Amino acid sequence: MISEQESEAIKKQIIEQVVSNFPEDKKEAAMEKIESMSPDEVEKFMRENNRMASDSGKCVFCSIVSGESESFKIDENEKAVAVLDINPLSKAHSLIIPKEHVSSKEKIPKDALKLAGSVSKKIKSKFSAKSVSAMNQNLFGHEVISLLPIYETEKMKKEKTPAKKEELEEIQKILSGEKKKIFKKEQKVKVIKESVWMPKRIP
Ligand SMILES: [Zn+2]
Repeated sequence: MISEQESEAIKKQIIEQVVSNFPEDKKEAAMEKIESMSPDEVEKFMRENNRMASDSGKCVFCSIVSGESESFKIDENEKAVAVLDINPLSKAHSLIIPKEHVSSKEKIPKDALKLAGSVSKKIKSKFSAKSVSAMNQNLFGHEVISLLPIYETEKMKKEKTPAKKEELEEIQKILSGEKKKIFKKEQKVKVIKESVWMPKRIP
């Protein structure tokens, strides 16, 4: 359970997000809704949006980076990881998480932006998204980039809804395809080694 005080602090953060990310005509209604939420409702909202700190009390994004929390990783570079949002608004909705717990937009490393660019490109080409909109989000003090694909044929969900595990795995497979190929190569090398071994074992 979160306290009244925590609830108010979280509300303030959510409202900041709304102010900087929501379309003008939807801001007022969204803000009213947030203001009226009880601590219980705030907690439920945070859980549904996968924004609640993990049980260990650590920032949820940091525990995704460290691998303590399960995630659907699709790409990675030295400074950031890309994972699928498990409550997507549209297919392949993704998050770019800087590996370091950075607290503001200005501190997001260039490599994280680079990763956002390459993942967006991949989403566009693999899923024929019309565009991918990138938005900054900061919850629990960890600044991340949300990549929201927009499709011509598919309607955007009105609310963040949990995706099926199989569905996420399928998208993960498609988006992280290049890495799978590298993995196959490694397997091949192993097989060759084994076949070199064989004649020695059989006299
Ligand atoms: Zn963090």
